[in-house]
Parts: sequence; C-alpha cells; structure tokens
Amino acid sequence: MSDQQRSGAPASGASGVPTGFTILRDPTRNKGTAFTEAERDALGLRGLLPPHVCSPEEQEARVLENLRRLPNNLEKWIALRALHDRNEVLYYRVVMDNPDEMQPIIYTPTVGLACQQYGHIFQRPRGLFLAASDAGRIASILRNWPYREVAIIVVTDGERILGLGDLGANGMGIPVGKLSLYTACAGIHPRQCLPIVLDVGTNNEALRSDRFYIGLRQERLRGPAYDALVDEFIAAARAEFPGVLIQFEDFANHNAFRLLAKYRNRIATFNDDIQGTAAVAVAGILSSLRITGKKLVDQRVLFLGAGEAATGIADLLTAAMMAEGLSEADARARSWLVDSQGLVVKSRTELAEHKRHYAHDHAPAGDFLSAVEALRPTAIIGVSAVGGTFTPRVLEAMARINDRPIVFALSNPTSKSECTASEAYKATRGKAVFACGSPFDPVTVDGKTFVPRQGNNSYIFPGVGLGAIASGAKHVTDEMFLAAARALAASVTEPDLEQGSIYPALARVRDVSAHIAAAVAEVATARGLATKTLPKDLASHMRALMYEPRYVTYA
Ligand code: NAD
Repeated sequence: MSDQQRSGAPASGASGVPTGFTILRDPTRNKGTAFTEAERDALGLRGLLPPHVCSPEEQEARVLENLRRLPNNLEKWIALRALHDRNEVLYYRVVMDNPDEMQPIIYTPTVGLACQQYGHIFQRPRGLFLAASDAGRIASILRNWPYREVAIIVVTDGERILGLGDLGANGMGIPVGKLSLYTACAGIHPRQCLPIVLDVGTNNEALRSDRFYIGLRQERLRGPAYDALVDEFIAAARAEFPGVLIQFEDFANHNAFRLLAKYRNRIATFNDDIQGTAAVAVAGILSSLRITGKKLVDQRVLFLGAGEAATGIADLLTAAMMAEGLSEADARARSWLVDSQGLVVKSRTELAEHKRHYAHDHAPAGDFLSAVEALRPTAIIGVSAVGGTFTPRVLEAMARINDRPIVFALSNPTSKSECTASEAYKATRGKAVFACGSPFDPVTVDGKTFVPRQGNNSYIFPGVGLGAIASGAKHVTDEMFLAAARALAASVTEPDLEQGSIYPALARVRDVSAHIAAAVAEVATARGLATKTLPKDLASHMRALMYEPRYVTYA
C-alpha cells in the first residue's frame, strides 16, 4: 500500500498536480516547509507540514547550517544527495549560491571518496544502470526513465574514475555529480539530464568481494561483446531521445580514445576527460600568457603523464598554435610527454598510439627532473595522477629556467596532485603562474597573496553542452573546444590576473558558460552543423534558456 492510499487522500488534485504525501515525496515538485498557506489547503498538505511557512532563503540558511555542522566532506556529500532526492529546487539553490563551497563536495575531490564508498553509503538509486546482463534489452530499460526531454547523457563504465582507477558501478557518482554541474553552471534543465553507468563488471577484486558492492560481480567485459553493448546503448539512446548529446566520462585509455574516434563524426558526442580538460588547460595557458607576456607559439610544454588529459591538451594546443600560423609538425614539436617509463621519445618502440604524435627525436630521459633540465620547458602540466611528483627541485629548476614558469598540477583528487599551491609558490619564490586540479587555499609568499584557482572542467563542459544542445549540433568538434577555451580565457579579468588567478571566480560561471555556449553555437552554425536556427544575440539567448531553481506556485 502506498503512503497515499494509506492516508486515504487522493494522489493528485483536479489540476493533475500531485497532492498530500505524493507531492512531498516528489523531489521535482516538493517545496517542503515553503508550501504556502493557500497551497497547503489546495494540495491537502495541512498537518503534514509544521505550521511555520518558510521562505526559500530560510530553507537555504537551514540547509547550510546543517551542512556546516557535519564533520567531513563525505558526510556533506551524503547530505546533499539526500537533499537532491528530497527537494530539487532547494538543492540547486544551495549549490548555485555557494559554488566554491559546494562544487568540491558534489564533484572533485569529494565525489572520488564517495565513489570508493558508494555501496556502503548507498541510500537511493539515481541515474540508470545498464548492465552487461541487459544486452539485448537496453532500449526497453531506457524507456523506464521517467523523463522524455533528455538532451544530454553522461555515461561512464567506471574503469578510470578520476585518478582512482577501476571502481565499476560505483562510478555512478561521477555522471550524477557532473550532470548536477551542467544544471548548476549552465542551467541545463534537470529533466534534460540523464546519468548512466554501463556496468560491464570490474577488475577491482577488493570491490567484487565487498559485500556491499552494488554492481555486477564479474570480470570486465572486453572485446566484441563490450563494443556491441556500447553500440546497442548508443543506438537505443539516440532512438529514444533524438539528437541527445552523449558525453563519455572516466573510461580507461584503451576505450576512451577509440570510442571517441569511432563516434565523434557519427553522433553528437565528446569525451570530457580528453576534450574538456584540453579546453580548460589551453584556456589556462592563454590567460597565463597575459601574465608572462610571452607568445603562444614560443611555448614549450612538458607534460607529466601521457594519457587522456595530456594528449587531449597537447592536441588542442597544437590546434591553437596552428591557428596562430605554425605548421602541424612545428606545433606538435612544442609539446613533450613524460610517462611512467620516462620521456616519450621516438626510439621507444612500445608506445601506445595516442602518444606517438609527441614522440620526438631526442635522447631518453629517465625522470621528470632530467627532462625539465634537458628540454627547458616554459610550462609543466601534471596529469599523471601521481601525487608529489613536482618536487621542490623540479619547481626550483622551472624558476631558474623561466622568469615566470607556468605550473599546472591538475591531477585529482587532492592526494594525487603533483604539488600543492603552497609548494609551487614557495619553491619558486612566487614566480609560478599556477593552476591546480584540486582546490587549494590562497598562499602568501614575501608579502604577496596568491589566489590559485582550479583548472576545473566545470568552466568548460557545461557551456559546451548548452551550446551544442541549443544549436542542435550534429557533432561536437575540436574547433568548438578551441572556441570555448578562448571564451573562457577572455573572461579572466585584470584583477584576477593580479592575484595570480588564471581562471575567473566560480561565482561567475553561469555568465562564462553563456559566452562559451554562444561561441560553440557560432561554430556549429558556421560549419553547417547546427540543426536549429538561432537569434543574433547568442549570449542573451543562452542566458534566457537557463534553468533557474525557483519554486512553482501551485495555488
Ligand atoms: P590517464 O590514465 O589517461 O593517464 C595517466 C597517465 O599518467 C598515463 O599516461 C600514465 O602512463 C602516466 N603515469 C602514471 N604514473 C606515472 C609516473 N609515475 N610518472 C609519469 N607518468 C605517469 O588519466 P587522465 O585522464 O589523463 O587523468 C590523469 C589525471 O589528471 C587524473 O588524476 C585526473 O583526475 C586528472 N585530471 C584533471 C583534470 C582537471 O583538473 N581539469 C581534468 C582531467 C583529468
């Protein structure tokens, strides 16, 4: 018997709006203590709520007071999940009004911890779980999703969650968190967002033998069976939700690159780990150059790590340098990679395909410091997921080689960061132009305070998603990501740069997203990839499309 039947009250009123317990249990409509006197009468809520009618501001203040009392970020993540399941508008108000405080909880770094513990802290399901055992019936499962307006899917197979490795179905925390950011940062309506895990098993034995693990307890599906499942999912998603944008997230290297290559010219899709990261990092370099006073084409960039992030950034950097007149060969020659075996050079025969473009003619270098000394880079970018690898000696060498070395320690979560902000500024005596993948507090060196900002993909993907959806883009191209990077860099103000911040404040992210969406839609239109006609003032149009977390009036 449902709560409603037990209460004896009708489940919905004459207008079709649910009433009584039903509306209180529907997070998309529930206003909790903010239901007005008139609504309480009209919807049969009298007595089901305490008498005092709260304003949304009071509700938000109460949530914040409760959250701030909790002892750690994982508890806060759990509390925010519960709020999301209870009252969607209030959840988005809290997240959007407090971006610096809430983003590190709903996304990196806390989401990593939440994914590791997912089965243990599990309360209510969110998103769709498509399991290997569901092959052949994916379309019918997609029809179980309650909303038909889906415009964007974030999908993971959980094999490379942040820098934490294979977390199987526990990876659901990532698409759920990421889609919250699409809504919070670019106003994509919650009903347009669908988080999906492809549960193809996990090779994480500890997880498989964990009694609270939520996924299939089997080895990962590989080969043709895996590809067939992905194909079935893509075809079913496009049939069920025509024009849907599909964002791949946290797939391991061996699948990420080939799935992107396979689908990018067939459907509207992108891989945020490769392309979104690339755009945020290139934007960071473009705004760093406003501090160093140097030209893009004169940069020599050394990456620690040679995976999705590194090669994605190097590829977009190549495109940006080519746009400034370099040949492809000359542009590629300006990016160098170091992986777990040392400097990526031509004489290495075992290199994976994605590293080969950056395997230059050079003597091998066994460790990162030797590579820095040999190549004298203007910028080092850490995307290795190995913490502490930008040692004081590496940082001192960069400060000796450059007046203003560019140092990005982008690995996530915080424990994997190549160096902390304090280490970067202190070892370089404040010379470093620094960005990080995890949040760090301001640092004062020799009386000057630096405000490091995160090279956070959430500056880029929400705006790219909005631009692609608004224009009905058939594909999402690298040119769109370069346009997004330029729009992000252009939004950094002089006061930002003066305090060493090469990204704008997160509080401005919706405005930034509107500009990025406009830039993306402009490319889509110019390249004949748009299926929707858009007005001239694109940025205003994008702002007008954005979801605002406001309560509906029911009576
Ligand atoms: P990935 O698995 O594709 O790549 C990791 C790379 O690091 C591999 O090439 C590997 O060979 C290399 N590596 C491993 N150990 C190393 C060592 N000891 N020395 C040198 N290289 C080593 O992962 P990815 O998607 O490229 O992500 C890497 C990291 O960057 C993760 O921590 C991820 O969370 C982070 N990241 C941050 C952002 C951001 O802040 N905006 C965006 C994307 C990824």
